[in-house]
Amino acid sequence: MTHLPFARPPDFEQLVRCEAPGEGLWFVFRGDQLLVEMGPLERPSDDARVRMRPAWARIPLQKNHNWLGSGTLRCLYLGVLGRQQCWAAELPKDAAAPAGMSWEGLRALFSVLDDRHFALAGRALQLLDWDRTHQFCGRCGTRTEPHAEERVRICPACKLSAYPRVAPAVMALIKRESQLLLARGPHFPPGMFSALAGFVEPGESLEQCIEREVLEEVGVRISNSRYFASQSWPFPHSLMIAFVCDWASGDIKPQAGEIEEANWFEVLQLPKLPSKISIARKLIDAVVEEMKSTNDV
Ligand SMILES: [Zn+2]
Repeated sequence: MTHLPFARPPDFEQLVRCEAPGEGLWFVFRGDQLLVEMGPLERPSDDARVRMRPAWARIPLQKNHNWLGSGTLRCLYLGVLGRQQCWAAELPKDAAAPAGMSWEGLRALFSVLDDRHFALAGRALQLLDWDRTHQFCGRCGTRTEPHAEERVRICPACKLSAYPRVAPAVMALIKRESQLLLARGPHFPPGMFSALAGFVEPGESLEQCIEREVLEEVGVRISNSRYFASQSWPFPHSLMIAFVCDWASGDIKPQAGEIEEANWFEVLQLPKLPSKISIARKLIDAVVEEMKSTNDV
């Protein structure tokens, strides 16, 4: 099985209710920034969105559950990692970091934090976002209540259930002889290109979604889609499902507003690629390796 960042750690058990709160790992966010103990920002980054990474970082371990003070906006029990309880909490946007700690974005902490802690930080970020945005019933407007045994908020008036939301999105890496089709969106860091991606619409399969997205974004028709792998992507709550496919017909016509530039790149002359934090990079690296090993390039 392909291991990707944000995958559930094998020794993690999700739980909703804590029988006896004890010492635990605290995943505390202020917006999308995580509270960590960390060293100086001096480690080089493979992510064009991150200038430098800290030399080291760790999640605070706390015995006293009141250490956050009265300003906590929400607090969720995540479950048990190995033998450690794990908690998620959100503080106000202007909350100061306690002495010896800092606020840092997850991208800067990738490959610095323990992988299992990094994955749970992604989970915590998504669950906090869900909790924040489902305080009121979407059908009747009544304040919702958490369920004691399950990760769901329920409307006491009309019984509507709001489970944590996951939005499926497909990613397509298109091959043509010794070339790959890579594109860049208007918000990408300068010079960076990646595989195409788009959200699944109601009423379509993953395969249909890929064909539609590719045709819309670059005007190309594809065939022979093969599943590669999937990745939980907590910005804010996606599941990326990656495929490799073959070019079938058509010339590149970038979609205005969505695609700033798209090109066929020789596998041996690829542009700047996304960080290893994302499945996009894993997908591109794997296909390049396969094409090199089969002498397609
Ligand atoms: Zn309701």
